[in-house]
Amino acid sequence: MSHLITEHFTLEELTRSATALRLGLDNTLPAQFYRNVELVAETLERIRTFFGNRPIRVTSCFRSKSVNTAVGGSLTSAHLVAMAADFEVIGVSNIDVCRAIPLIIPEYDQCIYEFGPTGWIHLGLAHSSPRHQPLTAVKVHNKTVYKPGIVDLWKM
Ligand SMILES: [Zn+2]
Repeated sequence: MSHLITEHFTLEELTRSATALRLGLDNTLPAQFYRNVELVAETLERIRTFFGNRPIRVTSCFRSKSVNTAVGGSLTSAHLVAMAADFEVIGVSNIDVCRAIPLIIPEYDQCIYEFGPTGWIHLGLAHSSPRHQPLTAVKVHNKTVYKPGIVDLWKM
């Protein structure tokens, strides 16, 4: 059963969590965040269109408190209110997607190039006063460090 929110995105894929499944945690979307999931889906549609309708793989949008804790998410994570997505655009490098985000989604709040070519893109949205903040996340001694800007630290 699938519940389309926009043409290409379902409620299931935006509320699914591998961690919730693995640990048996509840990740049901509270009704008050439904509008936020719609906003994320509409935003992902704009990214999809920009890249010539290449499919987008979403790995995380909404996270309940228990799921967010289990994945080590920030206490103020936009995922807690379904205002963020972790994703990849199939066939486009993550750094190219990150560099295009300010053009595609000028009102974006935060875009994080997470852990290089084999990682993902975190895109956070805001209802007001977006920060327009690009960051690069890198592991240093097993700890996540955020550097300003979209930086190619994995250049060969
Ligand atoms: Zn994220």
